[in-house]
Amino acid sequence: MLGTLAKWLRILGYDTAYDNRITDDEIVKRCLAEARIALTRDARLAQRRVLRGSLLIESTELGAQLRQVLDFVGYRVDPGRLLSRCVECNSPLVSVSPESVKALVPEYVFRTQPDFKQCATCRRVYWGGTHREHIQHKLRKLLDGK
Ligand SMILES: [Zn+2]
Repeated sequence: MLGTLAKWLRILGYDTAYDNRITDDEIVKRCLAEARIALTRDARLAQRRVLRGSLLIESTELGAQLRQVLDFVGYRVDPGRLLSRCVECNSPLVSVSPESVKALVPEYVFRTQPDFKQCATCRRVYWGGTHREHIQHKLRKLLDGK
């Protein structure tokens, strides 16, 4: 249910685990083992005493969810951390040479983009330019609540 929120937290550079197929007990176990804060829409799960520092997400609206999480952890958006993690699988991105990802990106992108990053786990390739501007624009709108 919080998949979109998880993606945006990754865009912000947050180490964000997301799995909508695991049970509540597994969530608790994983939070304790990996020192994670549980973000949930489930009031009963958030009240589990063993989960110290869990956060019950109140809104169904993405901007409000994002603001609630950032308030809770006292986080200010750091442009240097934006797009530093894979949106799909949460692994940190690594800078790579254009040549090394030539086969994985459209020809036009290869010719026009100077900087590429790649996920070390799922191999997805990211590049800057308009994508980054679009993300920052959307993020500002989400955080302003407009
Ligand atoms: Zn990945």
